[in-house]
Amino acid sequence: MKISHPVLVEEDGLVKYKVTIESSLGSQILWYSVDKEFGNLLSDHADTAVVAALIPAMKLGEDIEIDGTISEKLYYVLSSAYQGLLKDIIPTLKTIRIKPQSIEIYKTKSTGVMTGFSGGIDAFHTLNRHFYQDHIPNSLRITHLLFNNVGSHSSGGERLFRARYNRLLPLTEKLGLPYVPVNSNLEELYRSVQITFRASSVLRNASVALLFQEGIGKYLFSSGYKYIELNRQPNVTGNLSYWEAIATPFLSTETMEMFSVGHEYTRVEKTLQVSEVEDSYKWLDICSTNKLAGNCGQCKKCLQTQFTLDIAGKLDRYKSAFDLDRYYKIRHNYFPEPLLRDDPFRREIVDFAEAQGFKFPLRAKMLANTPYFLELRDVARWIRDRVKGQKVGEKK
Ligand SMILES: [Zn+2]
Repeated sequence: MKISHPVLVEEDGLVKYKVTIESSLGSQILWYSVDKEFGNLLSDHADTAVVAALIPAMKLGEDIEIDGTISEKLYYVLSSAYQGLLKDIIPTLKTIRIKPQSIEIYKTKSTGVMTGFSGGIDAFHTLNRHFYQDHIPNSLRITHLLFNNVGSHSSGGERLFRARYNRLLPLTEKLGLPYVPVNSNLEELYRSVQITFRASSVLRNASVALLFQEGIGKYLFSSGYKYIELNRQPNVTGNLSYWEAIATPFLSTETMEMFSVGHEYTRVEKTLQVSEVEDSYKWLDICSTNKLAGNCGQCKKCLQTQFTLDIAGKLDRYKSAFDLDRYYKIRHNYFPEPLLRDDPFRREIVDFAEAQGFKFPLRAKMLANTPYFLELRDVARWIRDRVKGQKVGEKK
């Protein structure tokens, strides 16, 4: 795989970071575009391109030759340790060599602190800890918010990226924080080697963060999972987000420190903390459907969040973010659902409900009327495992 020297070009009020990638799949142009007003934050180093192309090159089993400069620290990690980590997560990847035109120990010290902001629970939690709260040291206080289009909007693509950004923009203006939209065609590169967003999220997002090394010195990822989940999951293959705590700091350079925050809390704990942030009552956006900005109220993520807030007695605060009348009508269909799968977020909700003395209306009749009827054996297995767990010392 040969990658051309990155260039920054101005086009239609945007600054574009562009490279040409030649591989056995042919020639592709990879680009990222940023509004001109944020152009002074951009670096033309090759770090972004190498981080973006690492998984695709490993999937193809092709060495990366790049006509550009990369950070010595990043070069060292990507050449060895990071490839080992990626091969554990995606076993079809092959070890490759990275051959940059030059390697540099960066001297620039940038002071900006940036985080991606989607309006979700994890993102609001990071904003709460690193902006709203007073005790955060200045060197860790968020100065810039980022919103990118590198695959997380799924089939909603650029349309949904714009809609979600525009929905949250008034909040960021109220907070006085620059909200930087980054569009990109990176998804095409991953699609061409059949790598999912889930398996590559950290590298996709980090490739965007590394663009901003001229102005940003710290980039905070909002974690998805508690530390312990890495140990609990029987099969962590294929999901890079379980590994965020390890996978993000590795991608730091001499200029940009990258790490993920919030791993010490469960999703339920984060939801409860966020429920004390008034701005979240209107602006929370946790929906996973690809149709609209804001919350549909009925997808898995919307239901999990409403359910958690309901158990906590805080849901009524969110009447601008969700259609609560509809939720109260359909919630009984959802109540048995967390019991059906042993996924970390649902397990946390069940634990929380039990701790609050919240009763699940788990009745065979109700289950028989839901699409989950065929999964009754999963319920049986879940209950059996849980009882077994309690015998070996789980607190009752
Ligand atoms: Zn939804």
